[in-house]
Amino acid sequence: HFSSLQGYAPICSGQEDFIVRRLYHRVQDCFGRPISSAPDVWFDIVHRYSNDNNKTMRRTSKVTRCLNLGSYNYLGFAAADEYCTPRVIETLNRFSPSTCSPRVDGGTTTLHKELEESVANFVGKPAAIVFGMGYATNTATLPVLIGKGGLIISDSLNHNSIINGARGSGATIRVFQHNTPSHLEEVLRQHIAEGQPRTHRRWKKIVVLVEGIYSMEGELCKLPEIVAVCKKYKAYVYLDEAHSIGAVGKTGKGVCELLGVDTADVDVMMGTFTKSFGSCGGYIAGSKELIQYLKYTSPAHLYATSISPPAAQQIISSIKVILGEDGSGRGAEKLARIRENSNFFRSELQKMGFEVIGDYDSPVISIMLYNPAKIPAFSRECLKQNVAVVMSGFPAVPLLLSRARICISACHTKEDLLKALEVISQVGDLIGIKYSLPKKLDK
Ligand code: PMP
Repeated sequence: HFSSLQGYAPICSGQEDFIVRRLYHRVQDCFGRPISSAPDVWFDIVHRYSNDNNKTMRRTSKVTRCLNLGSYNYLGFAAADEYCTPRVIETLNRFSPSTCSPRVDGGTTTLHKELEESVANFVGKPAAIVFGMGYATNTATLPVLIGKGGLIISDSLNHNSIINGARGSGATIRVFQHNTPSHLEEVLRQHIAEGQPRTHRRWKKIVVLVEGIYSMEGELCKLPEIVAVCKKYKAYVYLDEAHSIGAVGKTGKGVCELLGVDTADVDVMMGTFTKSFGSCGGYIAGSKELIQYLKYTSPAHLYATSISPPAAQQIISSIKVILGEDGSGRGAEKLARIRENSNFFRSELQKMGFEVIGDYDSPVISIMLYNPAKIPAFSRECLKQNVAVVMSGFPAVPLLLSRARICISACHTKEDLLKALEVISQVGDLIGIKYSLPKKLDK
């Protein structure tokens, strides 16, 4: 329960042992719930908290308008958008909220076709298939791509949906040290001889699973090196771009564009629409043969209701804005803003003395707390000053690597970011998490 998704933790007790005990039992009760209709950069959250003055439990509820530092709304498309929103409403009227059918039954509309063409074109692959849920895109695709007799080599910090997809496949799974191409090579060498043709191996197939930006660390994948190792050992590359597609790269096309990797060298490109596109669902992009194969075999295509038409329209429209096809130039502005905002925020936190992990250009910025007992205090003190931060603790990350994970949006204004920095700095002093030497803060 104690994961990033439930992390608005306004527990009002100063006693950390109390908090730790309660966290494991009453976590659902204590965390705040977002109640705003749209995940805008400012949103309303309702939070309940326990007050243990005089050892009597009192529970109070209140609604607070907060600066949202936790949403994956990287480009701001999840808030009302002048181009996307009217088109989504028009689609809602024309098609209804749901197709109530899998793709192979009555669930394929003209929008689904248009969306798949648009996604393939956007990510730079010959074809794409879309699904109603990002999580299920991984869990349903991996078992049909690889099975018993196959070898999966997975980054140690891959997302839960990748882990469960890999486990569900029945393939042999090996893990390589997070983002370490030399260790990937070592694992590959333990399992196959260099240069051995695919047909002479004991493995039917070898697939390496990585993410474009690691969701809890904000680190960019060392994709060029990983692709080189995979080429050398003739292993397929499966890249999850949930947090990178739309968010990084000169024209928003993700880590391949940012790191100068040819998309032809990434065999399976996976991504979700729940972040940069402000919608829901996921995609797989690849060769025409791969996509055709998934259309015949993927349970998420055959047995699950297709992506909702308004959600599909939201993605089509936001891609048009990103590509500048709406004629407003807002796409390029948004891309420049998310990069500037992320890099500004990261460097200011570092100057203040926080231990910040991840890479420049990544909108995911994690501040290390280490001690899990500091999680509630950090969240509560930020919330008192109307700043909502998602906290990441066990089991989303190792218990003693607890952290506050900030997600930056192109919609955050400079004032928003300065306010957040001021609050986080005060909270950092209060709970003692400025582990590096502070440098001068420019405003
Ligand atoms: N892959 C990764 C790397 C993720 O971080 C997530 C969720 N944040 C998913 C897949 C699942 O995506 P969704 O939330 O769109 O279902």
